[in-house]
Amino acid sequence: MLSVVIPAYNEAENISVTAIRIDTVLSFATIDYELIFVDDGSTDETFATITTLSNDKQVRGLKFSRNFGKEAAVMAGLNCAKGDCCAVLDCDLQHPPEKLVEMYRLWQEGAMIVEGIKVDRGKEALWYRLLAKLFYGIMNCFAGFDLQRSSDYKLLDRKVVDILCHLPEKKLFFRGLSSYFGFAKAEVFFEVAPRYAGKSKWNLLGLWRYAINNITAFSALPLQIVTCTGVFMFIIFVVLGIQTLYNYITGQSIEGFTTVILLLLFIGSTLAIGLGVIGHYIARIYDEVKGRPVYIVEQEV
Ligand code: UDP
Ligand code: MG
Repeated sequence: MLSVVIPAYNEAENISVTAIRIDTVLSFATIDYELIFVDDGSTDETFATITTLSNDKQVRGLKFSRNFGKEAAVMAGLNCAKGDCCAVLDCDLQHPPEKLVEMYRLWQEGAMIVEGIKVDRGKEALWYRLLAKLFYGIMNCFAGFDLQRSSDYKLLDRKVVDILCHLPEKKLFFRGLSSYFGFAKAEVFFEVAPRYAGKSKWNLLGLWRYAINNITAFSALPLQIVTCTGVFMFIIFVVLGIQTLYNYITGQSIEGFTTVILLLLFIGSTLAIGLGVIGHYIARIYDEVKGRPVYIVEQEV
């Protein structure tokens, strides 16, 4: 059986259409499936719609007590999926359900992870495109994963899902983790369709948080950069120190006010940035150590 996990946050208009599209595609291909909608604390009619749909025994729904974010919703869906393989796709029909069949076939041929690869990023604002490029560039350089065209549209074998669900880490980066796992992979190419209804849930602040979380989740390189900056500054100190002492000894030590100001600014800002980087990692450790649940399920239908 194939479990299809669909995170949904304020997607009332999209739920039924998505369910119908997936049903049409999978029934036609005679693939046995279940749909798991995870309502990520929506404030609209999302859960009511899911509840209505759940009269059909192939449809299940989870409702979070508040908005916990897409990754949490995906994890919740995977945690309660019963299928031999699980697919994850967005609720706005940007990930074409037709590709599920191709993914399923590849899984049957032995692929453990089938990744949806974006051929075209669809309609995105220029600033979004540029920021996404920057983020993927940083991820690639820090963690060594090329995620440029990757997406959250994936199909995972039961084994991978079990590993994922039993990871002790709380804050996961779903898209990156499958690169980390290894296993036999296959790719399915798709064009990002326009959003069916409603608008994207991302804003600049959310994306910033997402980027920082994921970079710190995957790499300790920022911490090493702090150390390197320290070493670099130390070298400058030695050179300037010698020059200053020389000037002092030869009695020419009045000038250099600009240097002092520049040095102060440089040291101040580097220290602040360094502390900030370390702070992010401490915050992550703090979050993990607190051991709070990643999501709270209020209701299940
Ligand atoms: N989503 C979610 N929780 C959130 C934000 C988004 O479950 O806090 C879901 C949303 O309902 C959709 C998917 O994640 O099914 C992708 O969201 P969106 O379309 O807003 O992102 P984009 O396609 O713009 O990257
Ligand atoms: Mg979308």
